[in-house]
Amino acid sequence: MKLENEDALDHYIICRQCHTLHEEIPIREGTKACCSECGGVLYRYDSKLAEHGLALSISGLILFILANIFPLVQIEILGHEQFITIPKTVLSLFESGFYLVGLICAFLVFIFPLMIFLIYSVLFALLKMEKGEKIIKDLLVLLSHIMPWSMSDIFFVSILVALVKLIGYAQIHMGVSFWALIGFVVLDLYVTRNLHVYEMWMLRKRIFFKERENDRD
Ligand SMILES: [Zn+2]
Repeated sequence: MKLENEDALDHYIICRQCHTLHEEIPIREGTKACCSECGGVLYRYDSKLAEHGLALSISGLILFILANIFPLVQIEILGHEQFITIPKTVLSLFESGFYLVGLICAFLVFIFPLMIFLIYSVLFALLKMEKGEKIIKDLLVLLSHIMPWSMSDIFFVSILVALVKLIGYAQIHMGVSFWALIGFVVLDLYVTRNLHVYEMWMLRKRIFFKERENDRD
């Protein structure tokens, strides 16, 4: 295949499964384009992607804040009560002298998930308003770098394991944050599986290329 210049690459899309190069063609609302070699999904067309994405990312932020400000669990051992919150768990690592573990934990369970949902919210708001072509590009690159480092789901599973081990020794009451964290983890998994970064790149291209073509006319 011979390409005349680098811009021509914008009209091609690579299959993430078999790495075959395909020409991008317009598809109808609610449909998807599949790879002719392996059948993997290349891209979908959802005209309401920005609206859906914005609603999901704001809901995610609200659940994340709720999960962090209220007690996660209340543990009662021999009449001694203790409330556990997510920030308190990380801080207790610092207080015990595990600075490096505390720092890694703070990034994986607090800073990265918060950053990802903040970036999603800003991205979808900008895409909805059809503004900020350069900022959207920078945010999409940043998002691709930090997305693999969000580990709220692993953190949640580790909490469950710890709680199962404590049953029999202590009385455990789930707090508001526990349910908010479940909601956040489910939403996080849904967003990761359904709102792909490449679809945001395509939406950006559709919005700003269309604008440029209209300007030219
Ligand atoms: Zn393929």
